[in-house]
Amino acid sequence: MNAEWMRRDLAVLWHPCTQMHDHETLPLIPIARGAGVWLYDHDGRRYLDAVSSWWVNLFGHQNPHIKAAIQTQLDRLEHVIFAGFSHEPAIRLAERLLAVAPPGLGKVFLADNGSSAVEVALKMSFHAHHLAGQTRPRFVALQNSYHGETLGALSVGDLGLYRELYEPLLLQPLFVPSPDAYEAAPGESAEACALRAAAVLAETLEQHAHEISALILEPLVQCAGGMRMYHPAYLREARRLCDQYGVHLIADEIAVGFGRTGTLFACEQAQISPDFLCLSKGITGGFLPLSAVLIPNAMYDLFYDRYETRKAFLHSHSYTGNPLACAAANAVLDLFEATPVLSRIQHLGQTLEHALAPLREHPHVADVRRTGLIAAVELVQNRQTRQPFPWQERRGLLVYQHGLQHEMLLRPLGNVVYFMPPYVITDAEIEQMVAVARVGIERATASP
Ligand SMILES: *Cc1c(COP(=O)(O)O)cnc(C)c1O
Repeated sequence: MNAEWMRRDLAVLWHPCTQMHDHETLPLIPIARGAGVWLYDHDGRRYLDAVSSWWVNLFGHQNPHIKAAIQTQLDRLEHVIFAGFSHEPAIRLAERLLAVAPPGLGKVFLADNGSSAVEVALKMSFHAHHLAGQTRPRFVALQNSYHGETLGALSVGDLGLYRELYEPLLLQPLFVPSPDAYEAAPGESAEACALRAAAVLAETLEQHAHEISALILEPLVQCAGGMRMYHPAYLREARRLCDQYGVHLIADEIAVGFGRTGTLFACEQAQISPDFLCLSKGITGGFLPLSAVLIPNAMYDLFYDRYETRKAFLHSHSYTGNPLACAAANAVLDLFEATPVLSRIQHLGQTLEHALAPLREHPHVADVRRTGLIAAVELVQNRQTRQPFPWQERRGLLVYQHGLQHEMLLRPLGNVVYFMPPYVITDAEIEQMVAVARVGIERATASP
């Protein structure tokens, strides 16, 4: 049965982030249904969704509460134009997001995917400076950052794999060093490493603030950049410097928001509030596309005037504020309110860290790191020098293939094997997931 769906798929579909030629040897897996952390294919095999289906699924597949909320909404209203019209799910969602978000945020602008939320933040930031009488066409972004793949979002990302070819089409941001603790000098603490990166940010802002609208960053974990993690001291410094130089701070919590790092939002761990908080991915528990940009009232007020003044922010998406997606997001917030999700994440994070501990000594592992319920294992050719494996060898892919043969969906980022499971995973399933990954890593790194 799998084979037949695969044949029909390859005849008509082109998949994201994939060299389709790979599927001449790598099976494409048609999924028939999901339940909790498990996905089931058409041949009756199952896979533990260790990557939460690209980081979107928080409470498991077919989560009954989220499903029921969507079904209830489906019987009332599937969608309505969101200009001139409104609806209860969006209103309640905005009220509730603002109530739990870092202090100082007062309005919610909705869109329908993560990249669009980033586009909204970039445009709105530029526009706000324009309304204040300044033209600031540039942005500051971190090295190794990822903010999505539409042209604006791609511009402020630094992953060559996605960016290089399109360079002639992109905005030209200023990239500053990442506070990434993996890049710490020998003996240097994660905090000192973060502060060293912040010192370069300070210099950059001092020289260029007049032309810079905003600094954009992924708080605490650069996810697509290989689950690289950094000390919250950088966020505190970034906030202070942005205030000092009148530059907006855009916190892209599209991947890390909604509990992933152990707090509801990663910014909380530095006790800062951004000027733009971008949310998506987990916002609907992985059920439907939706994104939100939270901003302070002062930002909103800059745009608020009679129509003839032409200050309005004229940005829209057809599916802005889709009621089904908003209902799913409200259900996600219900689950955070009704169950001790954050303490569960703390517990699961510790189980995960404990299970991964033996890999710290592995000759081809340079680093094992964890923040909340994200953990990553950095595979290298040489543990001492941290010399990476040549990318063409695709060691991570070998781990992926091993995983599939043993009921695991582990989809490494290059040579970084990572774990970002739904919050409903059990301790036993974590042990199982890591056991498979360990054998996979053993095999993938065994050959010279
Ligand atoms: C996934 C991601 C995006 C882009 O979201 P899409 O919905 O895939 O467009 C932006 N920023 C970060 C940090 C992400 O992880």
